[in-house]
Amino acid sequence: RSERFRRQLARPCISADGEAVTLLLNAGLATEERVLCKPGISGVGLYRTEALFMAFNQFPTEQQQERVYRRLLSGAEGKSVTVRTLDVGGDKPLPYLPIREDNPFLGWRGVRLSLDHPDLFLSQIRALLRASQGYDNLKIMVPMVSRLDEIQSCRRLLEQAVAELSEEWGRAVIPPPLGIMVEVPAALFQLGNWWPWLDFASVGSNDLTQYLLAVDRNNAQVSASFDSFHPAVVAALDQIARASQGRELGLCGELAGEVLGALMLLTLGYRQLSMNTQSLGAIHYLVENLDLSALAPLRMVLLAQRDGEAVRHCLTEHLQAAG
Ligand code: PEP
Ligand code: MG
Repeated sequence: RSERFRRQLARPCISADGEAVTLLLNAGLATEERVLCKPGISGVGLYRTEALFMAFNQFPTEQQQERVYRRLLSGAEGKSVTVRTLDVGGDKPLPYLPIREDNPFLGWRGVRLSLDHPDLFLSQIRALLRASQGYDNLKIMVPMVSRLDEIQSCRRLLEQAVAELSEEWGRAVIPPPLGIMVEVPAALFQLGNWWPWLDFASVGSNDLTQYLLAVDRNNAQVSASFDSFHPAVVAALDQIARASQGRELGLCGELAGEVLGALMLLTLGYRQLSMNTQSLGAIHYLVENLDLSALAPLRMVLLAQRDGEAVRHCLTEHLQAAG
């Protein structure tokens, strides 16, 4: 199986009718360079920096972070790497930053924590800018955004870091693209208004499903209700895609790495999917065997379904009919 997977990724990811689909890797601390050099993979779509922060006993310094980021960016063979700024809180606690809250998932997490500690955020941004010098393949993504002013504040802090380093180095530093995770329901209704401030966006279907359905993503008791094929999630994913025509939009939740999930996303117009290493071969194979231009009727069918089971059934039927 791993042999077939390797051969699969040796080719660029092109659909049966000739359309390119961007396949990206979700990466943690270890950078899986062997996969990144494959022609079928376009880069890292999500690098979660929590793992790096958890590997230390206290907040890593700018220099400590810089070292890790440089290894990541240099190992990507010139391909783009989307680094997500610190997303602690909720299901991602930091031992040296105890947070006591009744509702951690609705609490002090992601961009909220970053903007309350601009010093921390700035040191991460500066470390990233330092590490990316000479590589120019860095993109910065902010998690858990629910308001425009959060994006504006992040952009101001990025500009501040760029100005500081330009001054320090005596030359103009070019700011990397800045984007957000679309994972709070508020973002799906506002994305169309936010695009002027964004270079790209990536849907976090894990949290988006959790918050849309009010189902804890890690609670086994309610795991049957955690359903990214729920018609409300399908409608949300569709609305996000409609609000992003001509923009750089991707998806980096678990859904992108499931065969039925990827088929649904391609049907809704997504052309950039980021997933774990193990899923890349299967999704590459799916894309190569799909006629993307023939999916429009399936989109209407999916949007008309009344429960997740029915959505899955329609997707399975399409796969079977397509061979
Ligand atoms: C998501 O929420 O879908 C996501 C990709 O990020 P994480 O799983 O790290 O919250
Ligand atoms: Mg998330």
